[in-house]
Amino acid sequence: MITIGSSSWHERAKLSIPGGVSSPVRAFQSVGSHPRYFVRGEGSKVFDIDGNQYVDLIGSWGPMILGHAHPAVVEAVVKTSRDSFSFGAPGPNEVLLAEEIIARVEPAEQVRFVSSGTEAVMTAVRLARAATGRDLIVKFAGCYHGHSDALLVEAGSAIATLGLPNSPGVTVGATKDTLVLPYNDEAALRELFATRGHEVAAIITEAAAANMGAVPPEPGFNRLLADLTKSHGALLILDEVMTGFRISAGGWWQAFGKPEGWEPDLFTFGKVIGGGFPLAAIAGKKEVMQLLAPVGSVYQAGTLSGNPVATASGLATLENCTPAVYKTLNLRATQIGEGISHALTGAGLEHSYQTAGNLFSFFFAPGRVTNYAEAKLQDTARFAKFFHGLLEKGVSVPPSAFEAWFVSAAITDADVDQVLSAAEYAARITREFSGVDKKTT
Ligand code: PLP
Repeated sequence: MITIGSSSWHERAKLSIPGGVSSPVRAFQSVGSHPRYFVRGEGSKVFDIDGNQYVDLIGSWGPMILGHAHPAVVEAVVKTSRDSFSFGAPGPNEVLLAEEIIARVEPAEQVRFVSSGTEAVMTAVRLARAATGRDLIVKFAGCYHGHSDALLVEAGSAIATLGLPNSPGVTVGATKDTLVLPYNDEAALRELFATRGHEVAAIITEAAAANMGAVPPEPGFNRLLADLTKSHGALLILDEVMTGFRISAGGWWQAFGKPEGWEPDLFTFGKVIGGGFPLAAIAGKKEVMQLLAPVGSVYQAGTLSGNPVATASGLATLENCTPAVYKTLNLRATQIGEGISHALTGAGLEHSYQTAGNLFSFFFAPGRVTNYAEAKLQDTARFAKFFHGLLEKGVSVPPSAFEAWFVSAAITDADVDQVLSAAEYAARITREFSGVDKKTT
């Protein structure tokens, strides 16, 4: 058998797949070089086709919370697969998984499964519009909610920018009912609701923004969203595709929202609930969820929705997400996040180390980042250098300065040591690249 490496595979891939990838960020475009072709994962590690191994701080962008090939998840998947991959009919696993989600997230009274976070959000928006009889959706710049047309819009810097399509092929008509506000801007929100609150069907927000790097909500921000939607007859959709069942046993809301005393009307989940298989969900108050067909008239469907293998994987993953797992995730995130920040400081590299629960990221920026406009001011060339330094030393992190980093519960003390020693090296070469020495001497 002829074996070829990642770089050759990528060249070959580009002939048959646009950019060689099935999702753009994987192409390494913003950091340069070529993606690594991973062929195996075990616990905290991933192995590429060239024979290199890495500590994995991507975790498939969130789902691999227990690490790769966790024995209980593998067993559940294999056992279920033996009895067929799909029936296109209801099955016990989806009921059990729905019950597990409901048990963990109190405001979630019913759950509908879909195959991707994008679909979950599309359905949540449709439900909110149907429930309120209104059209307008408010979202925040820098928050990503999947690639459906209505939400693929970016903000301008004005108070309430009418959404303009973020991608060719998305019509102005598709986004004309989407208003984009700056994240963490209470004044802009109040102003919008004072004038147009009665037209708003829903606010959608990431529970903590983690698609522009880790940018947590300022204290009271999410609460204000709940208050404003409630007082204006609109719904709050809390997008926990990234944070759900990762930040705590019940996600971001459980850890931060519940203590603050507010509740969303709808949640969207993905990533962890499929344990690496395509699975996502909409969950919420029964009165809203019951608008979905076949009970109500809001149409939503999917050939593979609630797939038995995907739900078996999700169920086994959640069953193994014990309190001890969350303790470990928090510990590893702190050890790695603080350790890397220390290495960057030691190298004289100005940065902002930011956390959103156990998600974290680093901005090569002069101050704390609280919104997308500030995130865009970071020095992405420095990030690219730092990224490659880590990769060279066997640490795989997101190939973009605008992504959060993910730890798994499989990370060991030895992995932490390896990451921190790699960070020392990566910080040193980033410092040389940045010419910090020249500026300060
Ligand atoms: N919502 C959030 C907060 C996400 O982070 C993502 C994906 O990263 C999505 C929605 C879309 O999920 P998917 O990629 O499964 O369509």
